[in-house]
Amino acid sequence: MKITCPACKKASQTGDKCLRCGCDLSILRQIREAATYELGRAARQLRNNNGQVALAHAKRSWSLKNSASAARTAFMACLLMKKFDEATQWYSHLLKLKHPVP
Ligand SMILES: [Zn+2]
Repeated sequence: MKITCPACKKASQTGDKCLRCGCDLSILRQIREAATYELGRAARQLRNNNGQVALAHAKRSWSLKNSASAARTAFMACLLMKKFDEATQWYSHLLKLKHPVP
């Protein structure tokens, strides 16, 4: 998992310390891994038609990292539960990620 250093913005880092400034990236890496883990749990629940639990995991993933995958999974979970207003909100999150407001 490649990380961009939040301190100096050096991209594509794979180690626990920034190669440029020495910033500790291990905690950031753990947060990213937890977000991915929650996303996997959400996808499994979605495949099992368990929208409520899928949405909870997708929200947890989103809270750790605002990713398109988390928003998309939350969107699908809302559709599964026929919560169209909330689905629309997640779709809006997706659009904002694709087209950020300057
Ligand atoms: Zn750095």
